[in-house]
Amino acid sequence: MTLFARLLFRVKSKRHKITEAALILGVNLGTLSPSGVQRPNPIHNNGMVASKRNKNLMKRTARVYLNDLNVSKFLIVREFLGQCHSIMQYFVDLFWQRQDFSGKLADLPTVHRAKKKFGITTRLGQALAKQASECVFSVHQKQRKRKPQLKWHTVTLFYHFVTISPFKKKGFDWCVKLIGSGAPKLVIPLKSTSVINQRLAQGWQMSKTIRMGLKKGRLWIDFIFEKVRPPLKTQGRVVGMDSNYKNGVVFSDSQVVGQDIYQRIQEFKKRQKNTHAEIKSRLGQALKKVDLSSTKVLSIEDLKKVKQGKRGTFSRLFNRRLSHWLYRTLVQLLERKCEEEGIQLVVKDPFKTSQFCSNCNRWDRRNRKGDRFRCVHCGYQSHADHNAAHNRRAFRLGGSLWSPFLLKFKKSKFWITIETSLKPCWVITEVSTPIF
Ligand SMILES: [Zn+2]
Repeated sequence: MTLFARLLFRVKSKRHKITEAALILGVNLGTLSPSGVQRPNPIHNNGMVASKRNKNLMKRTARVYLNDLNVSKFLIVREFLGQCHSIMQYFVDLFWQRQDFSGKLADLPTVHRAKKKFGITTRLGQALAKQASECVFSVHQKQRKRKPQLKWHTVTLFYHFVTISPFKKKGFDWCVKLIGSGAPKLVIPLKSTSVINQRLAQGWQMSKTIRMGLKKGRLWIDFIFEKVRPPLKTQGRVVGMDSNYKNGVVFSDSQVVGQDIYQRIQEFKKRQKNTHAEIKSRLGQALKKVDLSSTKVLSIEDLKKVKQGKRGTFSRLFNRRLSHWLYRTLVQLLERKCEEEGIQLVVKDPFKTSQFCSNCNRWDRRNRKGDRFRCVHCGYQSHADHNAAHNRRAFRLGGSLWSPFLLKFKKSKFWITIETSLKPCWVITEVSTPIF
C-alpha cells in the first residue's frame, strides 16, 4: 500500500458530516453486518419457514434452464411471468409514488387494489408486493433518484405456489409443480445438473422456494440451497493472497493456480461472447484446486491496483476493466469458499479508514496506535477497528468487496464519493503517485 502512503484527504463539504450521514443511514456502530440491510421477512415470520432468515445459513443457487419444456407449458409460464412483471411494476410505481422506501410488506388495501385491477389472488399479490417493495428499498438504498424499471421477468415462488419432488418416472430427475394459489397449475419435469447433485452430496438442503425467470427467451429455475455455516476455525495458518491477472492467483503458502487464465484471455477474439462466463468457470475450477484446509485466516487486498498491460489483443482500457472484473469475481469466489470452510476472510484496508476520525472528520496517520484510536485533533477515543468500521460504513465501503463506483479519476486527482442519504458530499484525495 505504498501508493497510498502519501494520500491527502480533506472534506470539502463540512455541512454533511460523515458522522451525521452514518446517523441518517441508521448505522448502528459495528453491529450492522454487510447483510444487515436484510430485514426480517414477514411471510417467513408467520412461522412457515422460520429457519429461512436464519443468519447462520449459507445460501447458494443452482440454475436450470427449461429447454425441454413443451410449447404450451412454455407459453403458460411466459404469460405468468409477464403478468407478474407488470403487477410488480405496478407496485413499484405505487411505492415510489408514496415515497414508501421501508421495504415492509404491503398492507392489505394496497394488495387488494392490485387484486381488483389484475384479477389475481391476495396471496400472489402479497408475494409480488413484497418483491416490489424490496426492489424499491434496495434502489433507494443505493441513492438512485430514478424510479426503478423492472428489467427482468423474474419471480420468487414460495412454497404456497410450488412444490419440488423427485420425478417418479424415467427421463427426468425433478418434478417442479406449480400448485395454483394465483400461479398456474402446471408440472415442470427437470433434469438434474451436476451443480445440484454436488450440492446435495455435500449436505446442502434444497429450499422449498424457487426463483423463476425468463432470460433471452429461455426460461430458467433457480433452486436455492441452504446449509448451516460452519464455525470459524480457531487453528491454522494465516495466508495472504495476491492475484496478478498475468501470474494467476498466488497464495503466500506457495500455492499458485490459474496461471493459464491470462493466456486464455489473450486467445479471445475481440467480439467473442461468453468470455466472462468462461473465465469465471476457469477461475472457479482453479480455486477448487487450492487447499485451504490448514488455513485459519485468509488475507486479501481490497482495492486492486492494476498494472498496465503489455500490448495484447485488447485495448488498455479493456484490459484494465477485465482485470478489475476478474479480481472482483475472484474475491466473490473466495468469499464463498472461505464461508464454506470456516475461514476468516480479512480484507486489508486501502482507504486508511482506521486513520480517519469519525468525530471531527480529519485524517491523520498518527491517530492510530495499535488497537487504540485517539484523534490528535479532537481527542476522540475509540477502538481502532470500531472507528474504522464506522468510517467504512459511512463511506459505503461496507462488506469486503471493493466497490468500483466509489472511485473516480478526474484531472489527475482521485475522488472518492461519499454518499449520504440526502446529498452527496465529496472527499478529495490528492495522489502523488498515480494509482492506476
Ligand atoms: Zn477527531
